Amino acid sequence: MNKSILLSICDAIPVLWHHVSIKTLEMFDRQLWSYSLEFFRGEISDDQFESDFIAAIENQLTRAWNEGADEVGVLPEEMTEEDLGVLQGLIDEEVGYLTGLGVDIIDIKKSTEGMSEKEALDEFRSRFRNRIDIWASKYNEMVNRAKIHFGNKTKLRWDLGATEKHCETCLALNGIVAYAYEWEQSGIRPGESGSAILACGGWSCDCKLSETDERRSPNALASLLALRDAGV
Ligand SMILES: [Zn+2]
Ligand SMILES: [Zn+2]
Repeated sequence: MNKSILLSICDAIPVLWHHVSIKTLEMFDRQLWSYSLEFFRGEISDDQFESDFIAAIENQLTRAWNEGADEVGVLPEEMTEEDLGVLQGLIDEEVGYLTGLGVDIIDIKKSTEGMSEKEALDEFRSRFRNRIDIWASKYNEMVNRAKIHFGNKTKLRWDLGATEKHCETCLALNGIVAYAYEWEQSGIRPGESGSAILACGGWSCDCKLSETDERRSPNALASLLALRDAGV
């Protein structure tokens, strides 16, 4: 099925979002990668690069936010000004990194000028592929942030991600069940890039918080605060 048709069906039937979250992350990744590549190859202008990139960030991070909210029972039309302000702040933060990326792409354009097309592309890929992946992983971070933000007394359990090498903090958090507001209070968030709390720094952490009916872990908040304060 055509992806844009699939996405509009999912917009109409939010419960389907559960089944396409990975595809949506992939789509975000593909968009950011192709805009970066087009800009590197000189196929699009600075302005075009900037506006395409910003549109992808706004669109995809809003989808991620709505998806996380939906998982704890909050619909977009129920969001308050404050909720939308938090979302906008997170989008602005991401957009704030864009100039740095643009400047670095312009730099590599210059430094690969004498190379063959293939060499230049290899160089570009080796320097930027991982960086774009990390950028796109913001999608999952946003889903989790929204669950924490909207969850209040929803119980959320930390589940280890499938692909990462797990750090000691993620391992210690694995299986802890706490109320969403307790996760919020602790400031611990799965996949938060550059996290000062997760030993892995969150860069490739794909752990997530899942809604659960399990009992809250004994002393959940105290355990979270102790892990937070242990820091790295
Ligand atoms: Zn970790
Ligand atoms: Zn993790």
